[in-house]
Amino acid sequence: MSKQLYKQEFGVCLLLVFFISGCNLGSTDSAKLKQFSYSDWIMGTTFSIKVPRLPENISEEQLKADIMTLLLEIDGQMSTYKKDSELSRINTNISADAIALSRPLFTVIREAQRLSELSSGAFDITVGKLVNLWGFGPDQRITAPPSDQLIELALEKTGHVLFVLDEKNLTITKLNPNIYLDLSALAKGYAVDRVTELLESKLIDNYMVEIGGELSLKGHNSKNRKWQIAIEKPTAEAREIQTIIVISDTAIASSGNYRNFFEQDGQRYSHTIDPRTGRPITHKLVAVTVLSESTMTADGLATAFMVLGADKALALAEQEKMQVLFYIKSDNGFIEQSSTAYQNSLEGNL
Ligand code: FAD
Repeated sequence: MSKQLYKQEFGVCLLLVFFISGCNLGSTDSAKLKQFSYSDWIMGTTFSIKVPRLPENISEEQLKADIMTLLLEIDGQMSTYKKDSELSRINTNISADAIALSRPLFTVIREAQRLSELSSGAFDITVGKLVNLWGFGPDQRITAPPSDQLIELALEKTGHVLFVLDEKNLTITKLNPNIYLDLSALAKGYAVDRVTELLESKLIDNYMVEIGGELSLKGHNSKNRKWQIAIEKPTAEAREIQTIIVISDTAIASSGNYRNFFEQDGQRYSHTIDPRTGRPITHKLVAVTVLSESTMTADGLATAFMVLGADKALALAEQEKMQVLFYIKSDNGFIEQSSTAYQNSLEGNL
């Protein structure tokens, strides 16, 4: 009897790391400090922004309006869920000519190409056809794996070498007109980075910005301490805290295969697709957390490491001195592994 089990968190998004509020000031303090807190929905997931000390000259309402305008602009550029987004128009454009890109979209696609090369093709934004075929994109969810024929057909339109970018003219040329780009693995991280730039342009230098579990931290919380971030136990059942890290001045992103998946006949099919096989990953790495300067890079790397699997991911992380935490499924739970750079960064933050 096949068991179809859907696990979706906050729509379809993964929230593996979350912020532990340090903002429980006594009544006397709150009167002095102008704290800013803003949460809402965007890109099919939640976002949350905390500023413990908002400069007196900044209007909360105006700041909220500026943030939402920025997020909607990025959504309009990079969503595959909006048929009229810039990315959707590129995906439906079957021209063999160079297509002009906005600077933000060019920036994200260029970073995706860099991560593809770094991960030997494990990270690949042309995986969109396969993501949709497996039911993890904007189309209908599925309850059973697609046929091998359909997978082969989608694989013919998959490969990060099937398009070229022109940095000077900000264009993309599709070498296979039917490729379909999916930026879900790194565009939320890019949006976090853009919100932090907006905050810093207003001389705000203590903040936590989180979108769908990807987050960027700077300075201190309202208790004048580093931020406390809980990393979730990588299990599909109850949401529990696995570990808490006290840290700041970094970006943190996570990926996992235990929130967004379906099961059939005891086999789990998750939304992390290996572009070389056309199928969801099957190894035992279940969750990855990456610390980096850029949230976009951390976001993309987390997916790249999930595709590579524990051994290759740890080797790449050590080679590139990246701060990475892995959870690997074992017979009685899971094993925690981390890179040297991750261990050093935590020591530095103790
Ligand atoms: P992550 O682990 O960060 O990324 C996994 C995603 O990356 C997969 O879902 C797949 O899309 C892609 N991927 C899989 N394998 C690979 C690979 N090998 N290489 C590269 N990429 C891969 N969701 C909605 O339900 N409604 C919306 O309206 C909506 N709008 C969105 C708008 C934007 C601009 C973006 C970026 C996403 C939107 N989403 C929407 C999707 C949702 O926000 C998440 O991006 C999605 O669920 C994956 O995020 P994650 O953090 O769960 O997974």
